[in-house]
Amino acid sequence: MRFIADRNLGRLVKWLRIMGYDTVLYRGPVDRLFLRKAEREGRTVLTRVRDMARRQFSGSLIVVEDDRLENQLKALMDRLPIRAETERLFTRCLRCNEPLQEATREEVAGLVPSYVLETQSRFRLCPNCRGIFWPGTHRKNIHRFLGMNSPVDPL
Ligand SMILES: [Zn+2]
Repeated sequence: MRFIADRNLGRLVKWLRIMGYDTVLYRGPVDRLFLRKAEREGRTVLTRVRDMARRQFSGSLIVVEDDRLENQLKALMDRLPIRAETERLFTRCLRCNEPLQEATREEVAGLVPSYVLETQSRFRLCPNCRGIFWPGTHRKNIHRFLGMNSPVDPL
């Protein structure tokens, strides 16, 4: 599943990317161009704007009703076949949505703090922004937040 979200949903976009879903954050106004882009790219529309649901649009559109991120994610997971699966976590750049590439310790040497290099063995690199990701201390919280009970390392 691929998504496009309006600019009110920045945090939700970040979490969909954490879960590995291709998600565009649309920074322009919520209008016909927004819907046209969604249609062209085959993306499900996520919007906070209620009257969007009444517009003519042949694609899939979900009005996100809740203010709280946790409830927003839960509502999406109830309605759509999206899951927080270990093997999909952290496969996309949180900043720019690019698919991440596996990187070796040698490749990231000098680019991450030395304690990270010493304690981590698996890294992922964004080919677009050159961001480097590794399993951080927040990963347990991420698993808890997404309702995953497996303590499996996401990378
Ligand atoms: Zn990036």
